[in-house]
Amino acid sequence: MTDQDKESTKISELIGYEKNNVWDKLAEGEKELIFDFCGDYKNFLDISKTEREAVKNIISSAVERGFADINQGENKNGKYYYNYRGKIAVLARLNGNSLARGLKIVAAHVDAPRLDLKQNPLYEEQDIALLKTHYYGGIKKYQWLARPLALHGVFVLTDGSIKEITIGEDDNDPIFSIDDLLPHLSRKSQESKKLSEVFIGEKMNIIAGSIPLENKEEKNRFKMAVMSYLHENYGLTEKDFLSAELELVPAGKARDLGFDRSMVASYAQDDRVCVFTAMKALFDVENPSENILAFFMDKEETGSSGNTGSDSRFLEYFTGMLLDTIGEEGRPLTVLAHSQCLSADVNGALNPDYQDVHEKMNAAKLGYGVCVTKFTGSGGKYNTSDASAEFMGKVRRIFDEAGVVWQSGELGKIDEGGGGTIAKFFAAYGMDVIDCGTALLSMHSPLEIASKGDIWNTYKAYKAFYEAGM
Ligand code: MN
Ligand code: MN
Repeated sequence: MTDQDKESTKISELIGYEKNNVWDKLAEGEKELIFDFCGDYKNFLDISKTEREAVKNIISSAVERGFADINQGENKNGKYYYNYRGKIAVLARLNGNSLARGLKIVAAHVDAPRLDLKQNPLYEEQDIALLKTHYYGGIKKYQWLARPLALHGVFVLTDGSIKEITIGEDDNDPIFSIDDLLPHLSRKSQESKKLSEVFIGEKMNIIAGSIPLENKEEKNRFKMAVMSYLHENYGLTEKDFLSAELELVPAGKARDLGFDRSMVASYAQDDRVCVFTAMKALFDVENPSENILAFFMDKEETGSSGNTGSDSRFLEYFTGMLLDTIGEEGRPLTVLAHSQCLSADVNGALNPDYQDVHEKMNAAKLGYGVCVTKFTGSGGKYNTSDASAEFMGKVRRIFDEAGVVWQSGELGKIDEGGGGTIAKFFAAYGMDVIDCGTALLSMHSPLEIASKGDIWNTYKAYKAFYEAGM
C-alpha cells in the first residue's frame, strides 16, 4: 500500500458516509433484548388484526400503566388516553409544561389492507354459499386467493347493540378462502392476460358453506343454511349485514422468519410495527421533558379521508380537548403549529429479486436500521410534505446521540410509482413532520417481512425523539 492509498482510506473514514448493519452494531446483551421485544410485538400483532382490535389493545395496555380516559378530566400523573369511535387511539403524557410550547408527536396508522364484506354479501352459486367482498387499500389481488382467511368485525343491530365476530384464528375454527383457477384450465382466462386484467374485484368472493338446508321446498338452501348458522349462533338476520363492518384478513399468527429467526413475518406490519414501537416508546420514557403524544390513526390505506382519517379536523378537535382538560387558555392551532412529529410509517425495503425498481443509493435496506424518509409522494415530489433540512438535521442529531442505527430511504425510482403517508395532513397544521419507520419486504402483502434489528431501532428512535427537548 502506498502512502497515498493510506491517506485516502483515512479520508473516506473521516468524512465519507456508509450505512451500518444493525447486527454489526449490537451492544452487549442487545440481541436478547431485541428478540424479547419482538416476542411481545408478535403477540400484539396476533391480537390486533383489525383497526378496532388494535385500538382496543393500545388502550388496554395504557390502562394497565395508569393512563386514564381524557373524558374523566385532569389527573395527577398526566397520562391520558382517548378512544375516538373505536378507530383512533391517542395516548398523551403531559408533564405540566404549557401546551403552547408544542407537542412531540409520533403518529402511526392502525388500518391495513384487507377485504371488507359488501353490505349485501351473501349469495349462492353452483350449490356453494359465497360472500362478496370489496377490497380495502392497495392490494395485489392474486395474493389473496387460495389462502386461509379469518373473518373479524362487528354487526351493529338496530337497537345499537354490537355483536363482535372472529372466526378463523383459533386452531379449531374453520377458515375462509377465495378459490383460484387450476393451472390446467387457466391458460386463456388468466395466463395470456396482463396482470392488471387477470384478477377482478368482483371475483374476489369468499367460500362460506356447502351444506344446504334440509327442507327442499326452501329457496336458496345453501345461502340460507349459512344465514341460519349466523342466526342460531349470533342472533343475526340477513338485514344485519347492512350495518356491519366485517373484514377478511390472513388467518394465523406472526412468525419468526429465517434459520436465524432474525425477521418477523406477518400480516399488517404496515403499520402496526410503528404502532407497537411508538406505543412502547411512549410508555418507556422515564420523565418526559416535553408533552409527548402518540396518535394511532385510521383510514391511511384509503387516503386518510373520513371522520377517523388524518385528512379531517380530528387533530384540532383533540388538541382543543387537551387544552380544556388541563384548563389551559390557548388555541389548538397555535399548539399544533409549534409541534414536532415523526410520521411513523413503513417504507419498502430493497427487494433482492427486483433491485431495478429501486434507486440503490437511496433505497432503504433490510437490516440497516430505522428508515427516515424526507419526502414521499410520486413523480416530481407531488403530494408530499417534504421535511425541511432543519428538521432532518434535528432528527439526525437526536438519533446519532442516542446510538440509533438509522438510514435515509426513498420509496423507489422516481418514475416507478410512489405513495404517501399521513405526514402531509399533520404538516398542514404547520408543525415539523418527517416520515420515520421500519422498512419492509413484501410490503402490502399478506405476509410482510421486517428485520428484528430494524424493529428494535424503530422503537429506539421514537423513544429518543420523545426524550429529546424541543
Ligand atoms: Mn403505512
Ligand atoms: Mn400502506
